[in-house]
Amino acid sequence: MKILLITEQHDAQWNRVSFETLMAAQEIAKQTSGSVSGVVIGKGMTSLAEELAGYQLDEVLIVEHDLLEKYTPDGFSLALRQVIESAKSDLVLLPHTYQVRDFAPKLAASMQKGLIGDCIGYRYENGKLIFVRQMFQGRTASDVIFTGAAPWVATFQAGAFRADLLAKRGSGKAPVKPVTVELKPEQIRTKPLERFREAKQAVDLTQAPILISIGRGIKAPENIPMAEKLAKLLNGEICASRPICDEGWLPMDRQIGSSGQTVAPKLYLALGISGAIQHVVGMKASRTVAAINKDQNAPIFEVADYGIVGDLFEIVPALIEALEQSK
Ligand SMILES: Cc1cc2nc3c(=O)[nH]c(=O)nc-3n(C[C@H](O)[C@H](O)[C@H](O)COP(=O)(O)OP(=O)(O)OC[C@H]3O[C@@H](n4cnc5c(N)ncnc54)[C@H](O)[C@@H]3O)c2cc1C
Repeated sequence: MKILLITEQHDAQWNRVSFETLMAAQEIAKQTSGSVSGVVIGKGMTSLAEELAGYQLDEVLIVEHDLLEKYTPDGFSLALRQVIESAKSDLVLLPHTYQVRDFAPKLAASMQKGLIGDCIGYRYENGKLIFVRQMFQGRTASDVIFTGAAPWVATFQAGAFRADLLAKRGSGKAPVKPVTVELKPEQIRTKPLERFREAKQAVDLTQAPILISIGRGIKAPENIPMAEKLAKLLNGEICASRPICDEGWLPMDRQIGSSGQTVAPKLYLALGISGAIQHVVGMKASRTVAAINKDQNAPIFEVADYGIVGDLFEIVPALIEALEQSK
């Protein structure tokens, strides 16, 4: 199977989920005796393309154009359609990022193809590729297959694959090949302004390796600095369950869950969070989940690797003290 992996970057900084999707591409290529072509799209992409070429893939296609310097759904879908057609790809894989959500359906529709979005995994059975997606806020998962002829377009959720297990090339680099695309200014119907940031110093929580997440158990906004102190000592970011953001105790972009962000950090430490399904769906792919909750029957313990049944107002200060002493 010829796989085209489309990476994402902003201002020459990778979106990390690109590498998780590369992991999926490598696995599928191995099982189907196929190949992986990585795509880097934008302008001035040479060094990123060279970096990508250090991973286990067959080639890196560098797609550059003045009209691709800033993301537009028209520019990206028109350019990528040309790349998919010239590469004769069977399967197009993308990370399920905000930007991809914006243009991938348009890209698939422009080729009269369907799209299977936000997949959490796949299986290869009897020569068929089956994609797995969550349904009903993550309560159940469904198997989905493509009907009709390739190319097929699918996106993978953040945390679905582990980028740290990616195969690098033993030596040398994959060939980097420029692909020329035709784009005219009149085809781009929108003008990109500044990228939207809700808060001035908004963080992309999907990129943070350690998250300290607070729930209603924190009781009052005056107690949040305690959790922030712990986050700082662990070099982590602070985030929350929905009620905390609804109250305005933390900005909305810190909310984790079905109506917030989906994250998969190395460590997710839940403080006073019950573990409602709408919350868990946004964090259950985390590598390690630790939870502190005074209710031993709290559902968060069902997804936790480590659990402490106790009062967070006793445990968090003790953790802070221990971390300060170890510095
Ligand atoms: C359509 C829809 C979308 C939603 N989207 C989201 C979403 O994106 N994200 C989200 O988080 N929620 C979402 N929710 C809300 C969700 O259903 C839960 O209500 C919410 O996650 C509960 O937040 P919580 O765990 O902080 O609070 P609670 O459920 O009130 O839990 C507080 C927990 O803290 C513990 N606790 C209390 N005091 C202490 C203490 N001193 N020490 C230790 N533990 C203590 C309690 O035992 C309890 O388990 C959504 C709901 C709906 C209907």
